[in-house]
Order: sequence, then structure tokens, then C-alpha cells
Amino acid sequence: MNPIKVRFAPSPTGRLHVGNLRTALVNYLFARKTGGRFMLRIDDTDEQRSTTEFETAIRDDLNWMGMRWDCEDRQSSRLDRYDQALAQLVAAGRAYACYETPDELSLKRKAQLSAGRPPVYDRAGLKLTDDDKAKLEADGRRPHWRFLLNDAEVRWHDMVRGDVGYHMSSLSDPVLMREDGRVIYTLASVVDDIDHAITHIIRGEDHVTNSAAQIQLFEALGSTAPMMGHLALLAGADGEGLSKRLGSLSIGELRQNGIEPVAIASLLARIGTADPVVPQSQLTSVIENFDIAKFGRATAKFDPAELAKLNSQIVQELDFAAVESRLAEIDVAGDEAFWLAVRGNLATLHEARVWWDICARPLTPVIEAPTVTNAAAALLPAGELNSEVWSVWTKSIAAETGVKGKALFMPIRLALTGRDAGPEIAPLLAIIGRERVIKRLQGETA
Ligand code: GLU
Repeated sequence: MNPIKVRFAPSPTGRLHVGNLRTALVNYLFARKTGGRFMLRIDDTDEQRSTTEFETAIRDDLNWMGMRWDCEDRQSSRLDRYDQALAQLVAAGRAYACYETPDELSLKRKAQLSAGRPPVYDRAGLKLTDDDKAKLEADGRRPHWRFLLNDAEVRWHDMVRGDVGYHMSSLSDPVLMREDGRVIYTLASVVDDIDHAITHIIRGEDHVTNSAAQIQLFEALGSTAPMMGHLALLAGADGEGLSKRLGSLSIGELRQNGIEPVAIASLLARIGTADPVVPQSQLTSVIENFDIAKFGRATAKFDPAELAKLNSQIVQELDFAAVESRLAEIDVAGDEAFWLAVRGNLATLHEARVWWDICARPLTPVIEAPTVTNAAAALLPAGELNSEVWSVWTKSIAAETGVKGKALFMPIRLALTGRDAGPEIAPLLAIIGRERVIKRLQGETA
């Protein structure tokens, strides 16, 4: 079996937004492209902030994107394993008990900073004797546990950043377990990645420091670290960090705004790479054209205007078969002819509803040039309103009124649609229907 296995590990403490969806997508695409597996891991050790509603929403969003996962697990069901791993580290001398309260730690940090030293934990816990510990415990203190980092440079070849070196002397020994027995992500994540045989960890560059410490943790637990890839964080169109509004732009909102999942995938799979952003109509082609090696350290610019443009390009190419049931959901009963007539004007599929209402529901026409519209009503050729009718009709109106070009077309458009812009009128005639066409040209609401 192909051993490649990646995971997306959201904490169910909020909705997916463009930043974390991008991490999910890159993992998903990497798995599909390489024939590996994609795991969903729910990082729900923070009981206070994790909710089943957020978890459900995350699953819904992934499903809506078409990103199916091959297996899943949740951290809250593995608490025993984390306790075991901690015991293993303690036995190996790589985890130690500490008794400082948050206030004491904060005082230490302040003192270090004012002495011009980096606020790195002083490993006081390591120096405690068994007697000291017994005394502290008799006073009602419970230990939290820290990982003893090796004071060395951790080096790895990052799938995105290339060779990375991180010297551990600037890091505090990370806390693995709180005094109330709750595990910290640093430990839980490594234990999971080992047990689930994760081969590649792809996540945002805000995790680089974590990764350095976690690489030592993998080794201390008798394993070797997976390959690591740290994606550059998303920036706004101006290259600055994402604004608060964009940073928290949820997938749910994009969905509500009529953005197609494949438009989001087309954009998020390409920003931050050397390849151009192009509309791709299927997730399968996003997969086919995906190459993790194309990602680099340059910021990935997320521009909602670019997303909107991709979206309309994708919508305008959709076949009727692909939209038929979705049109029905938004009460659009138009057939293929309707879809082909209007799709070129749509920014979102939802907008088809606007044109359906214009074609099929009563509308108050705008009469700008009654000479033209009255002549048009009188001269509409008999028979089927097919594609040939338009030129015959407009020629006869021009001959009758002496009006040509925009001065002829615009009054007809305004009368028939109530708007001064939109799809070509010719194919709309049959959809609007003879009776309505004539009434609207005569200024009646129809
Ligand atoms: N739950 C972590 C997060 O959302 C997972 C990070 C990781 O991929 O290891 O930041």
C-alpha cells in the first residue's frame, strides 16, 4: 500500500476560514495527487472551546468542497495514549515536573526581560529534589510537565521552505501536560502522528517553532519525524497580513455568497505558487495540476476580487446538466435554452434567479421610446420566436421608425427586462414568450 498519509487537524473551536481551508486543501491535494491517504483529525482537547456544532460545520464545509477524507480520529478519545507517552518520556528523562504557577512564571519572564535576557524557562523544575517535590505537593501544588529539549540545532528539509535550521536555545522547554492532567497539543499531535503513521505534515508557517520542538519529541518517543512542509501564511492583495475581516472570512460565508467550491479550490491551490491562478472547472483537474514543489516562501496573496472573477468564469462555463438540480433548488424552472441564454452574465449561479424572474414573472416594463416599442409590438413576426426572428424583426422596426443601433435596441431591452444591461435579447424572446413580449412592449405589467 502507498504509505503516504497526511492529515488535516482542525480544532473545532470555530468555522473554517480561507486560511485553514487552504491547509486542508493542500493536504488533500497532496494525498490525491500521490495516491496517498488523507486523514481528518479533530483536535478537541480544549473542552472549553470545542463544540460539536463547530465540528459539524467543519465536516460540512469539507464535504461541500468535495474533499472526502479516508479516515478520521479525535484527540479526546486518545487521552490514555497521551498519558502513556508522557510516562515514557518521564522514564527516559525527557519530561520533568514543574510547579510554578502562571503568576510565578510571568514574574520570572519579566525579571529576565528587564535583565536583557531572553525569556526562556530556567528549568527550575529540573533542579527540584524528591523532597522539594513532596513538600510542594503537600502544599497542594500539582505538577505540570515539560519536555526537556536537547540544546542543539534542529535541521530539516522543508517541503516548502527548503533547508531550515532552528536553534533550541531560544526556546523554553514546551509544556506537554497541564497540572489538571489536560494534554497540550504539542504532545498530543506528535503521539497521533506516530500512531497514525503520518508521513508528511503540511501546515502553516506559524507552526515552524512547534515543528522544531516536535521533531525532537518524535525522536524522544523512539520515532522519526515525518517530512514537514510549512506554507507561507495568506496575505491580503497588498501583500500585508490578512485584515481581520478577510482572515476570518468563513467558508460558510463564501458559500452563502454563491462562490463555487471549485473556484475556492482553483484559487487556494495556486496562490503562493509560481503557477498562474486559472479557473479550473473540476476538483479532479485541480488535483491533476497540483504540485507541492511549486509552493515557496513568497506570501500567498488572497484577493476576494480574484475569487469573484474566477467564480464567474467557472459559472459561465457550467453545462446545464451540472446546474439543473441547483437551479430547481433556487426556484428556477428554466430549461437548457434559458441557462445558455443567461449564464454568460452571471457572477454567481444564484443570479440565474434574477433572470428567471425577469423572464417568467410579471415585470413592470421601462418605456423609454414608445415609437420604437410600439412598432416592435406591432411588427413581432408570427410563428416561433427562434434565433432567426431577431434580425428580421429589428430590421423591420428600423425600416418603420428610422431608428437604428443602440437607440433601437435599448428601448426594447428596457421594455422587456426592465434593465439596461444583461444577456442578449434574441434568445430571451422565446423564454419570455410572445404574449408577455408584446404586453411589455406596450407598457403593460406582464
Ligand atoms: N489543531 C492544530 C491547529 O489547528 C493542528 C496543527 C497541526 O497541523 O499540527 O493549529
